[in-house]
Order: sequence, then structure tokens, then C-alpha cells
Amino acid sequence: MTTAVLLKQVSRHFGLIKALDNIDLEVGPGEFFAMLGPSGSGKTTCLRLIAGFEQPTSGRIEIFGEGVEGVPPYRRNVNTVFQDYALFPHMNVLENVCYPLMLKKLDKATQRREAEAALELVKLGGYGGRRPGELSGGQRQRVALARAIINKPKVLLLDEPLGALDLKLREQMQEELKALQKTLGITFIFVTHDQGEALSMADRIAVFDQGRVMQVGTPEEIYRRPQSRFVADFVGSSNVMAPAFVERIVGEKRWASLRPEAVRVSAAGGAAAALTGTVVAKSYLGSTTRLAIDLDGTRIHAAVPSGDNVPAEGARVSLEFDRDALHLMENEG
Ligand code: ATP
Repeated sequence: MTTAVLLKQVSRHFGLIKALDNIDLEVGPGEFFAMLGPSGSGKTTCLRLIAGFEQPTSGRIEIFGEGVEGVPPYRRNVNTVFQDYALFPHMNVLENVCYPLMLKKLDKATQRREAEAALELVKLGGYGGRRPGELSGGQRQRVALARAIINKPKVLLLDEPLGALDLKLREQMQEELKALQKTLGITFIFVTHDQGEALSMADRIAVFDQGRVMQVGTPEEIYRRPQSRFVADFVGSSNVMAPAFVERIVGEKRWASLRPEAVRVSAAGGAAAALTGTVVAKSYLGSTTRLAIDLDGTRIHAAVPSGDNVPAEGARVSLEFDRDALHLMENEG
């Protein structure tokens, strides 16, 4: 199988800062791939290396099997959608979308036909005559998308594409972006620091931290089987349990993660429950309520269905969970 984008032992240093530190990545053709990580973890640098706006300090990058060292961005068969959309304010929507074809010196009729088709794809048919200033944030985002796909790139790079939108619109655009990717069948690589967005949209996710790739996997693998404390903590809101505590429960001295929704809580006092604690905080989240429970100094969070049976702050409670839900990670140290 060919690989759409391959990074082999790629580093990018800025003086003493290791923005990327010896990373390996493989993105398949037609994949919707997310690069997820906290601010400063190296995601954007990685995207810019693939786009060709930056050069690696060391390592090799291939796009569809060809090394791209020294190949400028416009000759890479990739296109980028920037977070600020980078539209030309003095041009109307149609002219903005036509721009890449104008650079290629295609005839005017073809430019117009292709631009109109691209605008239809992003559900902006009929908006060609407007200026970017006359559009909403979501509409501007779609114009940027139309302009990026008009050249039919093999790989579309998206840098926090939904970052500027409010929550409702974000959710709508997440669905639309996924649908658009399916229709086009091209590889999408998008950068986000929003774990919910990565989990809901991506086929696979690479989790970045401090210039390194900590784990690559499907959303389910990343969420349910994190390989490190960092991934468990960053993706979702896991209970990360220390080795001494885990040893008490399962007899192995390893770090472990436990998702709050896997914890069952009941009033203390039943049969010799293994774990008993005190509810120290309670937050109502709509369909679930989040409890912070203190077990002799270890804090465990549980997400329980909201309702009358939720214990009050200060209540003594028993905790239970299936052994399978406790995911063992690295050894102590
Ligand atoms: P964010 O989500 O905040 O955009 P990021 O994960 O995309 O963060 P990068 O922008 O890739 O992170 O930055 C990684 C590190 O490299 C940071 O410490 C950043 O300050 C540094 N860095 C990035 N570009 C440059 C540059 N041109 N010169 C110096 N340092 C840089």
C-alpha cells in the first residue's frame, strides 16, 4: 500500500527549542488523520513541514512515495486551510475561490465553472458575489475550504480549521468536514488541541507532547487504551492512578487509568466493599453528574447518571468497576 504522507525520524529545531524531536508518522491515502496535543507540542510545525513552509532539521518526508526535500509548497500536491482562513478581503467569494486557477492561467470559463462546483460542494452555491466581510465565520471557513480543494490536492492540511467558530457551528462544521472528506476521498490531516474534535472526526489520531509523538491509534484505542499517563490525562478526563494504589487493587505495581464513566458508586455499608470513600465535590453536567471522591488521599472521579440517587457531598460511598475498565499503563518510575 502506498503511504500518503510519511515522516521518518523528522526533527525541527529552532535554536535550543526542539519543536519536533525525531518523530515517525505514516498517514494512509484517504485517511482523516488528526494531530492532537497541547499548545506548543509541535503540531503546527509538523503540518508546516508537510506543507513545505518549513524544512526539517533532519529526517525525511515523503508524499505519495516521493521525497519532498527542496520541493516548494506549491509543487507538493498538498493544500493548506489556515485557521484565519487568509481570504482576500477585496475580492468576492468567486474570485477568492478562482484564485489558485488564475495562478495556473486556466481560461476564465473553466475557472468559473470549477469555482462554482467547489462552492456547491461546501454548500455556498449562490454566494459568489459576496465579499468575505459580508459572510459569517462559518461561511468564510467554507470559502477557504472551497479555495483549498479547487486544485484537487491529494492531501488537505487543516490548521485548527474550526478554532474560530462557536460551539454550535463547530459541531455542524465537524459533520460537514467529515462528509466533504468522504465525497472527495482525499487525505485530510488536521491539527487540533480539542480532544473531543479529534475523537469524533478522525480515523486515527497522533497525540503530541513536547515535540514527540506519544501514541498513534484509532479514537477508541487512544481513549480506551492510552499507553502513558500523558495520553490518559490529555484525552478525556481519566483517573490516573499511582502504582502503589493500583497494587492494592490488582496486585501489580503499574500506573493505571480508569475512565470516570466506568466507576459505579453506591451508598457505603454494603458487603465488604473493597473501596470506600467520601464525596468531596459534585458537579451537575446535565445527563451525568461528576463526583470527586476521596479514598484515603487518592482522588477518584466518577461520572454517574444524574438523578435522585446521586450521593450528596460528604456522603460515604462504595466504589466498584470492572477489572477490564482498569487499564494498566507503564511501570513505576
Ligand atoms: P499551538 O496549538 O499553540 O499552535 P503547536 O502544538 O502547534 O501549538 P508549534 O507551533 O508547532 O506548537 O510549536 C512548537 C514549539 O516550537 C513551541 O515551543 C514554539 O514556541 C516553537 N516554535 C515554533 N515555531 C517557531 C519559530 N519560527 N521560531 C522559534 N520557535 C518556534
